[in-house]
Amino acid sequence: MEQPKVKVVIAGGGTAGWVAAAALAKQLGPLLDITLVESDQIGTIGVGEATIPTQRTFHTMIGLDERAFMRATQATFKLGIAFENWAREGDRYVHSFGTIGKSPWMTHFFSVWAEARARGLGKDLGAYCLELRAAEESKMYTDEKGGLNYAFHLDATAYAKLLRTLSEGAGVARVEGKIDRVEQNAESGDLTALVLEGGERVEGDLFLDCTGFRGLLIEETLKTGYDDWRHWLPMDRAIAVQTSATEPPVPYTRSIAHDAGWRWRIPLQKRVGNGIVYCSSFLKDEAAEARLLGAVTGERLTEPRPIRFVTGRRRKAWNKNCVTLGLSSGFIEPLESTSIHLIQIAVTRLIKLFPFSGDASALRTRFNEMAAVEMERIRDFIILHYRATERDDSPFWRHCRNMEIPGSLAERIALFEESGYAYQGPEDLFQVDSWVQVMLGQRLVPGGHHRMAGMMTDEQLAGALSGIERSVERALGQLPSHEDFIARYCPAQ
Ligand code: FAD
Repeated sequence: MEQPKVKVVIAGGGTAGWVAAAALAKQLGPLLDITLVESDQIGTIGVGEATIPTQRTFHTMIGLDERAFMRATQATFKLGIAFENWAREGDRYVHSFGTIGKSPWMTHFFSVWAEARARGLGKDLGAYCLELRAAEESKMYTDEKGGLNYAFHLDATAYAKLLRTLSEGAGVARVEGKIDRVEQNAESGDLTALVLEGGERVEGDLFLDCTGFRGLLIEETLKTGYDDWRHWLPMDRAIAVQTSATEPPVPYTRSIAHDAGWRWRIPLQKRVGNGIVYCSSFLKDEAAEARLLGAVTGERLTEPRPIRFVTGRRRKAWNKNCVTLGLSSGFIEPLESTSIHLIQIAVTRLIKLFPFSGDASALRTRFNEMAAVEMERIRDFIILHYRATERDDSPFWRHCRNMEIPGSLAERIALFEESGYAYQGPEDLFQVDSWVQVMLGQRLVPGGHHRMAGMMTDEQLAGALSGIERSVERALGQLPSHEDFIARYCPAQ
């Protein structure tokens, strides 16, 4: 017997809304009746232009062709992030998406490298990572056989538009209008309909709150509550501005620390996304804007856009029959470009745990537990950048280096400082190599390392490392420049 379709109503058409629409339509389309409501009057946040490599898996899942996506969003490749001035003014390190060392050893490559360095052998860790070297040399290549591990820099507005076209083509209905109120079942509290300003009602079985920071459904209606993380992640404001490109795009994001936060620089094919992120207790808005505008190059294409946020997490990602995605579910802060990933992973999880019938309380519990731990692990990784600093030049950095941190992060730092051991737990998004790159980049000093490589002679150790280095350099020598490769692979329309 044919089952009735589940009516899914998506409130909001920013990146979160259209990512959800495209994925649900692609994976569960015939089982669902999907409507997305968005308001042109309110608009979207308009930032969110750097991603991590998981986005490629998501695109495969929704059947989005990479070249078409890159052309439509004037995307460039991203091989990592260059952190400038973070541990000390004048410092620079790259957190790349690559694997470092490709070691056949039982212990992590890091311990082999640490043993070599202790004996005065080998080079900086980056010499053993192709992605890192390619970022530094502004090179890039990919084909169907694989190769480098990469993500993208993209135009967020164009991305939402592209996903909208894909979603509407797959049967998603779009309603333009401002949601005036949300109706609930008097007994269960479940949401029943969105009522638009013109009086139109959009009824549903399952509601996705993608309305951005305000959380119209999950907070304003369901009063779910929010865990405020500003005591760990003190950033609370940003200003974004777009400028024309004045040089070929590099395949990495720049994150440049200043005395009360940091600035980003995200190179697209024809323009650059710039922004300043800061803590309002330590920097005034006018000063932040002046600092941002003083640092950008090229012609200004947009007016500076101020954004306020509270770092933290919605207490339940799924409450009653409402699932929150995107900024309405919480915000860690953009330092490691994880928000779009969190949207994509949440909608993937929703597809797996989809509430097709009756009571969904067990599905809901599972969903919420997974969402909570996943966000906490990313939170810890971001806090690491602020806490592990030697900067002492401003009240902001003195605050960061002395602030309390979650026990889960304190344990990781202690483990690394004691033994040089870093790990990727089952719920961790970031791999061992990411933790090691950032821990070392932030000048954490391991007090020791696993001594397995200690059984090797100097000659063996030096030979092993130079073998890896040579293979990285050989591969690097064959890569085209990032600029040339984009011109060939995916020039913007
Ligand atoms: P929004 O874009 O705010 O969309 C909300 C939608 O809801 C809009 O369509 C709006 O019209 C609609 N809406 C709201 N109220 C109503 C109503 N009453 N009626 C009808 N419609 C309504 N993420 C990354 O992955 N990488 C980054 O580099 C990155 N950088 C960031 C930098 C900053 C400073 C900030 C603040 C965020 C950044 N993010 C980044 C996060 C990223 O921007 C968001 O995760 C992403 O854009 C999703 O936003 P959203 O769709 O949840 O919200």
